[in-house]
Amino acid sequence: MPKFEELGRDLAERDRNERMRMIASLNLQCRCPGCPTHTECAKRNQEKLFCFNGKSFICIEAERECLCPDCPVHDEMGLRYAFFCTRGSEKAQRYEHDVWGIQH
Ligand code: SF4
Ligand code: SF4
Repeated sequence: MPKFEELGRDLAERDRNERMRMIASLNLQCRCPGCPTHTECAKRNQEKLFCFNGKSFICIEAERECLCPDCPVHDEMGLRYAFFCTRGSEKAQRYEHDVWGIQH
């Protein structure tokens, strides 16, 4: 099974505490705070892990650079996409691409 689906299934089977621990570990590895696209507003609101949490609602609009492809989580989760803060989570982008044929 591809990594992303495997991780999703794994998370769903864990109890709440274990799930929180796994997410906290991903959160620690996230490179978003050092990214040129990440804003002061996003830092103040501790927004990160957009690949999992989905896009930033009000803090990030302009895309500059995306560090996601070099982040260890990208490989660990078998992600295909990037710019999650502006384009949506991996799950959302897969849906848009695979079901609706939307290309960013
Ligand atoms: S892939 Fe991107 S959004 Fe996901 S943890 Fe890494 S830097 Fe953060
Ligand atoms: S999702 Fe990508 S573009 Fe957005 S802040 Fe994180 S590393 Fe930067």
